Amino acid sequence: MSTALPTLARETVLLSESLGRVLAESIHADRDFPPFPRATRDGFAVRSADVAQVPVQVRRIGEARAGEAFAGIVAAMQCVEIMTGAPVPAGADAVVMVEYTAERDGQIEISREISPGQNIVPQGSESQRGAILLTPGRRIGYAEIAMMAAVGKQDIAVYRLPRVAILPTGDEVVEVDAAPGPYQIRNSNSYSLQAQVSSAHAIPVPIGIAPDREERLREMIAEGLRADLLLLSGGVSMGKFDLVEKVLESFDADFFFDGVAIQPGRPLVFGRAQGAFFFGLPGNPLSTMVTFELFARTALALLSGESDVPQLFLRARLAKDLRRKPGLTAFLPARLQPPEGDPAVSAPVVSVVEWKGSGDIAALIRANCYLVVPEETEELSAGEWVAVLPR
Ligand code: AMP
Ligand code: MG
Repeated sequence: MSTALPTLARETVLLSESLGRVLAESIHADRDFPPFPRATRDGFAVRSADVAQVPVQVRRIGEARAGEAFAGIVAAMQCVEIMTGAPVPAGADAVVMVEYTAERDGQIEISREISPGQNIVPQGSESQRGAILLTPGRRIGYAEIAMMAAVGKQDIAVYRLPRVAILPTGDEVVEVDAAPGPYQIRNSNSYSLQAQVSSAHAIPVPIGIAPDREERLREMIAEGLRADLLLLSGGVSMGKFDLVEKVLESFDADFFFDGVAIQPGRPLVFGRAQGAFFFGLPGNPLSTMVTFELFARTALALLSGESDVPQLFLRARLAKDLRRKPGLTAFLPARLQPPEGDPAVSAPVVSVVEWKGSGDIAALIRANCYLVVPEETEELSAGEWVAVLPR
């Protein structure tokens, strides 16, 4: 059994199409950043020693606009008018903001003292030429795109997108466009999973609905295992027709675990077969969605080549007392509201949404997060700090 993650093949994409992809190369600084000492304000480049006592008048000897340099040297009691983004001329070591200057008798009068280096970013102080700015495994967002544009990268090596097969199971499950019989359920899991996979920057590949019959289930699982990851839903509980684990065993699967101490989502199965990873997600819609968020999303990110995939929780104050049966870590649909008063000093408030169990999609619509109740906790009081996972 190999537990090492497979490395996906690389491909090249245009910078403008790289959003959400995972970088497969290192990005270096092609020059110093900034490439010259850069003025950060409109004003006058001066020698700070000349401006120790104010007001003082200095002589304007020229101008430095963005994109051009002033060729001369700023000598004692001289200044150069300078614009934001322009190179600070030799001799000057500070830029006085235009707001603290006035033209008087053909001279520039400066009304504020200034210390060396003020309003200048020194050459190479952000990054030096040759420095590594981004490493493989980085998910590309807008800041990464800005960085790559700044170093002139137009063709970006990324990992190919993983393909994720989606296979809901259940004799009662029918397609969304079918008229369901009185005891049939429309297939919502396939659609929520496609949305979750897409939002994780992977390619969803729905492969139909598998009945609770071994032979057909086996054929469809075989098809699903040709993807990088197979997401099954349903058929992983203890019922007589919960056949998913049994059929996966027939593929000589390695099972990493086949249950987790959480609610909803307890009968979650995770493993690998025929070189592909699989999750047997529980079939109840909320369980399917929550277990994807808690487990499959992280697995998919790692599989995509991403190296840093922390699961981040927020902290909030509980709105109302809460009692429940302990034993499982709960992820309860809840509503997070912005704090009353100054958001810098007060905490957001979270309240549990009323729900009728893990089939209650409408409850999740009213929720915007999951409230985490630790395994052994039986009651929580209003005002207590709790952990929250945004949805
Ligand atoms: P199971 O995990 O197969 O026991 O299914 C648990 C519950 O989830 C049952 O009430 C199913 O009808 C429901 N369910 C299973 N698959 C789906 C699906 N694809 N879409 C919506 N509900 C489903
Ligand atoms: Mg079922």
